[in-house]
Amino acid sequence: MLQQIYPQAQHDYQYELNKDMQFAAAHYIPSEKAGVCQQVHGHTYFVNVTIAGDELDDTGFLVNFAKLKKIVHGKFDHTLLNDHASFDDQNPEKFPTTEVVAKTIYEMIQKELDELPNKPKCVQVFVRETPTSYVVFRPKKEKKSW
Ligand SMILES: [Zn+2]
Repeated sequence: MLQQIYPQAQHDYQYELNKDMQFAAAHYIPSEKAGVCQQVHGHTYFVNVTIAGDELDDTGFLVNFAKLKKIVHGKFDHTLLNDHASFDDQNPEKFPTTEVVAKTIYEMIQKELDELPNKPKCVQVFVRETPTSYVVFRPKKEKKSW
């Protein structure tokens, strides 16, 4: 759902940036409890990531929008999510559910943001898997500097 309004992340940073993106990917949930989702099937995932910070870089960016797209779309588009090392068919905490996909996207993005001199923070990841289902992941406050 591009151009929609997303839930707000609470924070005290001066700047907030949001990037919408989408990618097409297949997955399956390797558990009998997942019902038909045990079968390989595909989704067009709609993702919104929220980045916040008090400092801009020497180009006037909190973070380059294109960099965020590259991190997520560049890695997952037209792939089978179960094939990625981030996910693990043997570990239920790492099955590629919408929840785990959202958390994984957070970790991928924050890892890259930690390399930037202005130290922006990813404060929210919104992942829509179907027109009627989405997940919001927000890191716990104790892991943030605010
Ligand atoms: Zn699915």
